[in-house]
Amino acid sequence: MHVRTNAPLAPLTTLGIGGNAAHLAELTDLDDFGDVVELARREQVPLILGSGSNVLVADAGCAVPVVRMATHGAVFERAPDGSVVVTVQAGHPLQELVEETIGNGLTGMETLIGIPGTVGATPVQNVGAYGQEVADILVDVTAWDWTAGREVTLSAADCRLGHRTSIFKRSNRWTLLTVTFRLRPAQLSTPITYGMVAKLLGIAKGESVPLDEAAAAVLAVRRSKGMVLDASDPDNRNVGSVFLSPVVNGGQAEELRAEEAPVNDFPDGLTRVSASWLIKAAGFTLGQTIAPGVRMSTKHFTLVAGGQATAAAFAEAARTVADAVQKATGIRLTPEPDLFGDEPAYLRLKQDALASAAP
Ligand SMILES: Cc1cc2nc3c(=O)[nH]c(=O)nc-3n(C[C@H](O)[C@H](O)[C@H](O)COP(=O)(O)OP(=O)(O)OC[C@H]3O[C@@H](n4cnc5c(N)ncnc54)[C@H](O)[C@@H]3O)c2cc1C
Repeated sequence: MHVRTNAPLAPLTTLGIGGNAAHLAELTDLDDFGDVVELARREQVPLILGSGSNVLVADAGCAVPVVRMATHGAVFERAPDGSVVVTVQAGHPLQELVEETIGNGLTGMETLIGIPGTVGATPVQNVGAYGQEVADILVDVTAWDWTAGREVTLSAADCRLGHRTSIFKRSNRWTLLTVTFRLRPAQLSTPITYGMVAKLLGIAKGESVPLDEAAAAVLAVRRSKGMVLDASDPDNRNVGSVFLSPVVNGGQAEELRAEEAPVNDFPDGLTRVSASWLIKAAGFTLGQTIAPGVRMSTKHFTLVAGGQATAAAFAEAARTVADAVQKATGIRLTPEPDLFGDEPAYLRLKQDALASAAP
């Protein structure tokens, strides 16, 4: 495994901003993981980068070594109960896996189509979209446990998956090596629960359609919001949703539903409202510049980078949006992307959100 020093991180992220990594290595073969252990011994436990679609890299870069997961491969096995168990290398692209499962007539991840990133990152924030999430299909993961100094297997329950969170979200104790999912052979998708997708398919919410039709409809809806990476799209430099969908209480949910806000009940029993709806309600407009080089997407209420955007400007824009939403609606937004390096303004924003969520 070749280790580069003072290597740019921005081109390895979808936002395309931030400084250099003091040490950067790429792991293409799991058999070479011993080299990562050696790097950690020489320097310190590394940060793990997948496709960089959910990270903000600090302008000063990252003194902690960074290892990019570029392992590849998925092994499908039929289980005695007729389900299919697939074990996937952490660096394998999620998009490729979703297409493969649809092609193999397996249901469980068809509505995750179009989400960028690697499979190893999917348990980190319990990736989900349009009615499916990793928690529905995860069997277990293998990981390197830096505290124990050995490889471990963690069951889905051990991972403590929640709404866009898990034990991995705020700790770099584990490096995920492989992820195992259980899928079911089926011609039809899981029930379509999202209004826009159901409308496009011409079905009622709760009905199912062939797997490829469900995936095509989800992709079309995602494209209309700029939620599929496309190098030719001027809104391409983004991290998807900058903010988590915030939890609302019963009274807030009732008021928001009266205003036709997208308010949904989630598997963890909590009710959440769309962050992008709140951003619009706070008075922002599509394409609006929020901080130097950082503006609203032209298609959806999320931040995108352009020109000479910096991590500091991104943090400033996120702060402006979160403060305005709080002023207009009383609801505090929590930023979603993870920080590589030290960007005090972004850290403060995360801490403020945590503090306002505390009981
Ligand atoms: C256009 C767009 C649309 C998106 N839509 C969605 C969506 O619908 N739903 C959704 O949930 N997310 C969405 N995202 C966010 C993002 O795609 C997911 O979070 C994805 O799982 C990140 O994968 P990645 O490989 O890019 O991870 P990175 O951004 O590289 O890393 C994210 C975090 O995971 C950690 N990590 C990555 N790999 C490992 C590993 N092997 N072991 C330990 N830690 C690891 C990193 O250290 C970091 O903390 C979207 C992003 C974009 C740009």
